[in-house]
Amino acid sequence: MARYLEAKCRLCRREGEKLFLKGSKCFSSKCAIERRPFAPGMHGQGRRPRRASDYGLQLREKQKVKRLYGLQEKQFRAYFQLADKMSGITGLNLLQLLESRLDNVVYRMGFASSRSEARQLVRHKHVKVDGKVVTIPSFIVKEGARLTLNRGAEEHLRVKAAMEAAAQRGLAEWVDVDLTTSQGVYRQMPARDQLDSSIREQLIVELYSK
Ligand code: SF4
Repeated sequence: MARYLEAKCRLCRREGEKLFLKGSKCFSSKCAIERRPFAPGMHGQGRRPRRASDYGLQLREKQKVKRLYGLQEKQFRAYFQLADKMSGITGLNLLQLLESRLDNVVYRMGFASSRSEARQLVRHKHVKVDGKVVTIPSFIVKEGARLTLNRGAEEHLRVKAAMEAAAQRGLAEWVDVDLTTSQGVYRQMPARDQLDSSIREQLIVELYSK
């Protein structure tokens, strides 16, 4: 599967906001966007902000959300098409589908410090869903499903550090997690007001509906 290998911090700087792609570094003074709050590249600093067209705004919003969840264009568009076929509001359906991906739920439960770290845990057979090992990061977790980390993963230093940091920061409201036993329940899909209010999913709907 294709993977995006450009430095992750460049993606945040390109979007002009934190996408939290690098785990604990994102919460420290080493965060690149705090040190260099301008677009990457030779002319990033000198570039004058231009008034973006409607298309430009829609494109940037799509890129931002796609990068936030670590997806490629083809995968992201497939989620949109699925969301569009579902009943309800397409933009919300899209966000809820993205939130229900196994790698994202592992991240939201605090077992990993970033979605890419969560993806690695899943691929390396460290995560069980309702008692069965699942190795597909895009697996859609159903409401009420119980996730468990296997013993080997629990002992891993990165996992321990992620769980400690998550305990300090607090976890998402839509998951119930017991970090002492490395288990959690995906209670329900998040409601719109529980998700990042800076995401303007309607712009993505407009972009793909052209
Ligand atoms: Fe983005 Fe994290 Fe890098 Fe900061 S440290 S620029 S939030 S990936």
